[in-house]
This record gives sequence, C-alpha cells and structure tokens, in this order.
Amino acid sequence: MKLKGIKIKLHPTENQKAFIDKNLSLNRFVWNKLLGMQQDRFENGGDYVNAYGMHYLMKALKIEFPFLKEAESTSLEYTSDDLDDAFTRFFTKQNNHPRFKSRKHPKNTYKSKCINHNIMIVDTHYLKLPKLGLVKFFGGHRIQDKIKSATIRRELNGSYTATIHVEHEPKVFEKTGNVIGIDLGLTDLVIQSDGFKLKNKQFERSLAKNRRQWERKFARRHTQALAKIEEAKAQGIDLKLSDFKNLHKAKEHIARISKKIANQRANYLQQYTTSLVRRFDLIAMENLSTKKLMQNHHLARSIADASWAKIKSMLTYKCDWYGKELILVDARYTSQICSHCGENTGKKPLHIRRFDCPHCHSVGIDRDVNAANNILNKALA
Ligand SMILES: [Zn+2]
Repeated sequence: MKLKGIKIKLHPTENQKAFIDKNLSLNRFVWNKLLGMQQDRFENGGDYVNAYGMHYLMKALKIEFPFLKEAESTSLEYTSDDLDDAFTRFFTKQNNHPRFKSRKHPKNTYKSKCINHNIMIVDTHYLKLPKLGLVKFFGGHRIQDKIKSATIRRELNGSYTATIHVEHEPKVFEKTGNVIGIDLGLTDLVIQSDGFKLKNKQFERSLAKNRRQWERKFARRHTQALAKIEEAKAQGIDLKLSDFKNLHKAKEHIARISKKIANQRANYLQQYTTSLVRRFDLIAMENLSTKKLMQNHHLARSIADASWAKIKSMLTYKCDWYGKELILVDARYTSQICSHCGENTGKKPLHIRRFDCPHCHSVGIDRDVNAANNILNKALA
C-alpha cells in the first residue's frame, strides 16, 4: 500500500473559514511555544526533546493554555511532528534552524488524522472534516480509496484547499516492450529519442495582459497608500499598509492569476508524463541536479528549469506506481557523441541543428534527437 495525495478546492462557509483561520493560528501558537522551549533548553545546556517528549508536553500546554482545547487535536500533534522533522533536517544539515512563525510568515497548513471515519466524502460534494463538519467541494469521484488524513491549506490568494491522503493500491500499466530516451530543452521542453517533441507552451502569455494590469494597479495603490500613511503621520494618526483593503485585493488578484498559470502548466506536464509512462516500459532521462537548476535567474530558463524538475518528480512517482522503470543518466557529452557509432565528434556550436557523423557517415539526424538517443543508449548500457 502506498499513500497518494489528492488536492481539492474547498468552498467553506464564513464560519468554517473562521475555524480554519483560528486553527491555523492555534497551530502556529503551539509551533512557536515548542520551538521557544527547545531553544531555552539548548541555551541552558539541556538536551533536545524528541517527538515523543513533545507529544507529552502537549498535555501540559493544554492545561496551561486552555484555549488550545478548541483546536482540532490531531493537528497539534502533527505540528509537533513537523517541528521534530524540521529539527531533524537541521541536525543533519539539510535545513536551516526552524524559525518562529510570525503574522507575516504564518503557518498556512494544518493536518488532521482520520479516526473512525471523521474524514469522509458525503454525497460526492461534501467533505466531512473534524470540527468543521461538511465542507462543500467538487470532484468527489476522484477520492475512492481509504482516507488516512487531510491537510487543510489557506492559499496565498485567500482560497482554501485540502490534500486528501488516501491508501493507494497502484495499478500496473501493461508492459509494451518499448523504451524511450528524453532530452530536455528550452523551445521544446522535451525531445524524445523517437523524434517526438513537446513544445514549451507559454502559458503565461494568455494571462500576461491581465496580470500586468493588476500589477500596475497594485503599484499605483501602493504609492498612494504610502503617501496617505505619511499624511496621516503628520496628523499623528498611525496607519499601516494592511489598512488598505484595495491594495490587498490587487495582491490577491495577482496571486490568483499566477496560480492559474501554474495550474495550466502542471496539467500539461501531468498529461504528458502519464502518457509516457503508459506507452514505455523504460524511460531514460538526464539526472538533473536541483542545485544547478536553482542557480539560473533568467526567466524563460527558470520556468523551463521548474518544468524539468516537475517532469523528473512526476516520472519518478508514476514509474513507481505503475510498475515502469525510470533510469537517470549522466548527460555529459550526449550532444557530442554520435548515437549510431558512439564516436565522440567534439563540441558543436548551438546553431548547428543537424548531427552529421564523420566516422560512420550517418547524416541529418536532429541534434536533440541524437542527444535523446544517447541518453537512452547510456541507460541501456
Ligand atoms: Zn557515427
């Protein structure tokens, strides 16, 4: 059995929104309290209190701060487990030291555990959640398997979503006997060894005008707000940026558009990777180093980078679910080697799009398709 997360959009009532917001702040309170306690202990030469210890402390916290009883109780345990994870990653040098959650950088998720069917789908359009009751949503048909937990999230654009974690018995796709190598590019996001190319669609273009309009509105409202704050200050009135509702609204609009773009792109990649895993038993691709990817700041490049990283992670879990194989290879020299005879023909300038081999005299192979074939050959070797 594996766990699978299914993300859905929630349509909570005002009361339900208020509870989610309150529960988020209670979880933030617990996070900060436990983190503060760990720091105090450290400064006084004490040992780190592990996950069990923190669970135990929760009882004491609930007595000291009775309002914590209003929280969804399993979410508080998950929060202490999260903190333990954050510390573990810090101790193993994978992360920075856990930080306090502020109003500006709040906690935007909490997780509830499914106990005795307290999380379930009712009439396909309602999700029953602990302490919240029935929350409206669409797409209940997607959740068929046994529910283990749910993560509730307040998105940056002010909407609410839930990721439902279900037990998932992976279906195995039929074996096809086919193998494929894929090379990654900019104009074409993916070039397959069989010659197929996946276009790098510019999803932001269709919504760019709208986003620019809102960005301009935001900039204008921001300047106006700053001027008004100055004005008010002269009269002894203390105003903050957060007092300007329409400024906040513009920000939400921008976030909503960005989200839409991200969703379109994610769908595009989901469809592509699923069809790839369905059609091929073995997929070979370059082993991307995420560290290298993070260093590029050029926009087109950074979008492609993000897509490549997504393709890699989608193929990783889909191959695992559906019984197929993903092989990651070192992509060095794949643009220089002839995929027919294996001879390294040296560096070529980027404007040369066709690969002609002086050794075996094969001519006219598309440069990127040649590279994709080399990636496949490396995986099969
Ligand atoms: Zn050759």
